[in-house]
Amino acid sequence: MESCLFCRIANHELPAKMVHEDDRVIAFHDINPQAPVHVLVVPRKHIPTLNDVSTDDAALVAHILSVASRIAEQLGVAQKGYRTVFNVNAEAGQSVFHLHLHLIGGRRLSWP
Ligand code: 5GP
Ligand code: ZN
Repeated sequence: MESCLFCRIANHELPAKMVHEDDRVIAFHDINPQAPVHVLVVPRKHIPTLNDVSTDDAALVAHILSVASRIAEQLGVAQKGYRTVFNVNAEAGQSVFHLHLHLIGGRRLSWP
């Protein structure tokens, strides 16, 4: 989608501090980090929310999670602990309607 922020980042039309790129996903540091480690793992495919994920996307979602765990290892939070979150729609505070997994760590996290 031309006007979508994360599509534009994926197409290198807008800058981001990339930590990973492959043919299916990109990952970059959040512009407004909520913890010392706050990375967004984003599929290149424009999917608005987790509600729009179909069974055909199962391998893609598994890849997003797998990339997140590898980045957690790279950034040194895998053993201490980290959180992965998909915010979905208004009550969860979703603000960018292109699917993204938050990877948050580097400090003790409260719940929720
Ligand atoms: P959501 O609120 O939709 O779950 O998460 C969107 C995230 O995208 C927020 O944590 C926000 O800080 C981040 N974000 C919004 N705009 C940009 C941007 O232009 N660049 C980067 N790197 N992160 C962004
Ligand atoms: Zn998009």
